[in-house]
Parts: sequence; structure tokens; C-alpha cells
Amino acid sequence: MYPARVTLVEVGPRDGLQNEATRLPVDAKVRLIAALAAAGLTRIEVGSFVRPDWIPQLADTDLVAQRAPKLPGVRYSALVPNRTGLDRAIASGLQEVAVFMSATESHNLKNTNKSVAESLQQFRGIVPAALKAGISVRAYLSTVWGCPYEGAVDAQRALEIARQLRDMGCGELSLGDTIGVGNPLQTRRILELFLEEFPPAQLALHLHDTHGTALANCLVGMEMGIATYDTSIGGTGGCPYAPGAAGNLATEDLVSMCADMGIETGIDLGKLLDAGALAQELIGHKLTGRRLQAALGRRAPGEARPAAST
Ligand code: MG
Repeated sequence: MYPARVTLVEVGPRDGLQNEATRLPVDAKVRLIAALAAAGLTRIEVGSFVRPDWIPQLADTDLVAQRAPKLPGVRYSALVPNRTGLDRAIASGLQEVAVFMSATESHNLKNTNKSVAESLQQFRGIVPAALKAGISVRAYLSTVWGCPYEGAVDAQRALEIARQLRDMGCGELSLGDTIGVGNPLQTRRILELFLEEFPPAQLALHLHDTHGTALANCLVGMEMGIATYDTSIGGTGGCPYAPGAAGNLATEDLVSMCADMGIETGIDLGKLLDAGALAQELIGHKLTGRRLQAALGRRAPGEARPAAST
């Protein structure tokens, strides 16, 4: 019923940090990436080659990519918005890049300053070039479950865009619940539609936990054969549309659930929690991941007070 094994794509060093006010130095990012790789994560998104004035937190992605520890079986990737970004990714020695766009016009315009058609046109120019350079390409399609500007999203429209991304050579499509409003029934309907045209191995889910439904949506994905999930250490990043709310699903929350269910991830939960503690220390505030906070609470000194629990 469930996949025997799932793969997690760790997006904390990119999607997490780009939404944190704290700007980590290169050394700190490399330490965090090393801790994530040591825990067994084999796919780690280390940054983004967007204009530094747009996302100053990730301006040093070239250096981070070059200094991330080179380990067998570990693949690093970064976002590339255009040809300049792709050239920087190639020069940094990355094995994978990701293009990104939204399923809705208004979010795509706010996020990339382009219409949906313009984004697709731009990617047609860079995806084949990446493949020719021996770099695999994943595509992010955001706002599939809901849009902060347009509300409900037409899944057929999202599928039309996805088809074009696939046809230009994107090997993996990551479907995003960017604002974290999806519910399990909706997830089933969206996946039923996509699975008519895509093999499950070509799809990944990028779920946010704003409303606390990310794990429930993951479970539906696993029931339907999806075996790749994007998560962020400690739930780093928050939600840019809902200050104070949870953002990306926390890596350790999904790893913990999978371990309890007997689903293999290849990740050592203890080492992952160490990486989460490091992320919280470096970022300097309490992160939203449930499993991390449970572990940190247990590690803290002090007596439990059973009378207070219900
Ligand atoms: Mg995200």
C-alpha cells in the first residue's frame, strides 16, 4: 500500500533560509549542509542563483555549493531562474538545478516578475542547455493547492503547465502546496489527475504545514505511490504569507513518521535531530518542527510534571 522507501529532498538551506531574516555566513551554511548529509539526506538544495538583491540570504550560493562536502551518493542542487543562473550553477559544480514557476498568473508575476507564458519560454531556453551540460533538471510548480492572490486553483491549468515542463526536458516535477492550505481529499483529486499523465516516479510533493495538514497530505501521496517529498530541516522558513505560522513540512517530522511506519528513508533520525538543533542554534529562534521540539524538550534539564498532562 505504501512505498517501501521514500526519498526526501532537503530544501532547508534554500527554501528555509530564504524566508528567515537571519543571514547565515557561508561557514554556517556549509556546517548545516554537512550535518544534513551526515544524517543520510542524499538530495540537498543548497541555494538559489536568483539576483542577490532579490534574496540577499542566498547571494553566496556559488561559494556554498563549492564548499559543501563532496560525498558519494549525495546530490546538491540550486534554483536557476535564467541562463546566468544556469552558468553559475555549472561553474559551481552542481549536479542538478531546479526551475520554478507558479500555476497561477498573479503568484508567478509576484514571485518571478513574469507571466506563466514568459516563464515557460525562458525555461525552453535553459533546460536543454542544462541537460546538454549533464545536469538534471527538476521543475517546481507552485500554488497547485491554492494561491495567496487568486484563491482556488484550477488543477487542469496546473496540469497543462506541468505537461509543458515535462516536454521541454524537466525530469522531475515538484508540485507545491505553497501556502499550506491543502487537505487530504484535495490532494487525492490533484494526484488522480496528474497520475493519468505522469508516472509516480516523476512526481514529488512540496507540502507546507501552515494549516497542520502536510503529513496528512504526504500520507495520501504515499498511498498513491509518490515516493519523493521536499522537506525542510526543523520546518525552517515559516510561511511568507502568514507570519508566525509553520512553513515547509519539517524533515524530521516526515522521517519520524516513516520510521514508525516501517518505511525506509535511509536517514538516521538521531543525527537528523542533531542537524535540526544546529539549524535552530544558527538561525537563533525556535523552529516549528514538532519532532525537533519534542526532542529538544526531552534533552532540556528539568523534571516532567505528569499531573499537568492530559
Ligand atoms: Mg517551500
